[in-house]
Amino acid sequence: MFETDDKSVLLDAYNKIASSISKRPVAKDKYMDIRAEIIKRIDKSLLVSRDIYFTELEKQHILKECKSTYKDYCGFINGNPTAKTTQLIERKNALLDLMISFEIQSILRFKNGLGEDLYLDLRSIFSNRKYKARLMKDSVQVILKDAVDDPELSAIKKVQLFYTTRAGKKFHLQGCPYCAGKMLCAEYEYMLIDKRIKPCRCVTKNNEIIKEKKLKEQEEQYITAFVDESLRDNTGHYFDETLGMKQNVFSILMCKGMLRNEHSVTENGIIGQYIHVAERTEQLQYTTIEAIGTVMLKASLTGFSKNLIIYTDNQGVCNTWRKIPALEFLARSFSTVKIRFIRREKNKLADHLIRDNDIIVISKEKTKKLLEIYSSSQEQKSYKKNDW
Ligand SMILES: [Zn+2]
Repeated sequence: MFETDDKSVLLDAYNKIASSISKRPVAKDKYMDIRAEIIKRIDKSLLVSRDIYFTELEKQHILKECKSTYKDYCGFINGNPTAKTTQLIERKNALLDLMISFEIQSILRFKNGLGEDLYLDLRSIFSNRKYKARLMKDSVQVILKDAVDDPELSAIKKVQLFYTTRAGKKFHLQGCPYCAGKMLCAEYEYMLIDKRIKPCRCVTKNNEIIKEKKLKEQEEQYITAFVDESLRDNTGHYFDETLGMKQNVFSILMCKGMLRNEHSVTENGIIGQYIHVAERTEQLQYTTIEAIGTVMLKASLTGFSKNLIIYTDNQGVCNTWRKIPALEFLARSFSTVKIRFIRREKNKLADHLIRDNDIIVISKEKTKKLLEIYSSSQEQKSYKKNDW
């Protein structure tokens, strides 16, 4: 029943990734040749008749060719928008049609392998940027395999049936007291929404329970951390000039669960908030790396080994952290580690941890002297007070 829907999901995804393919501008006098070459390659693929039986391996081979042609088409059109002709667009559409018809077969086969009460939410997979981008090189078969194992997606869902009475304005779960002894009609939720029938309290209450359960499960599966770093004046320098004028510090805010931004941080969800003095360096990215490594250590020391998400406003480290041996090594203690970029203005909690607190490292001897000065000044104060 969802086949046409699946087609539109794939078509949508292919159209959307088209714009992300890097531009390949060519000189205007080369337009004709390159366009002709692409049309020739598309036509060659279109010679493949859909009525002929192909083995799975042959189909994969045809698809690979088609995808590479489509990618070249996108690069050419993105780099030379004026080279677009109706003829070229028609050919490209026919190519996409062929690719999708092959891929739909894989999807159907995959769906047939699912249990009766389960369905594949293809839209959730291909609205995800990562899986959408993979369409350009991988077969849908391979993508599906990875996507259904991705805990962030939950691409396989349970089919839920709801019940209505003959003239009812609400839909119910089986077993709702309201339905007892009445003639019921079973339907899928999307059909009911189309008919503008609203959920009964039995449904909304159940949804809340499911949501809570999911949240709890997710809290056990994920730790999310926000880190920030700063190079600032070292207050300790005023008491001990052997210490540097500046010091690197970083802050960590660690929370239970999978959080998409800091607005989702709740008091109960916080595992810990820390600020640390970091190794002295002019390059703040090393401090970010130290902060990320510290999060991994802290998480792993609590015995946690599942999924870790770390937000930082250092874009460079997000892109390159896997190449840093120490981080790569620490990351092996977890099922998945994701370092995500967060804009500075959206990382306020970690930023304030650093901004609103001070840490100084000075010798015990100096602290003792400082305390002596402090208490004698306090004594003087209370003395004056009594005098007065
Ligand atoms: Zn009900």
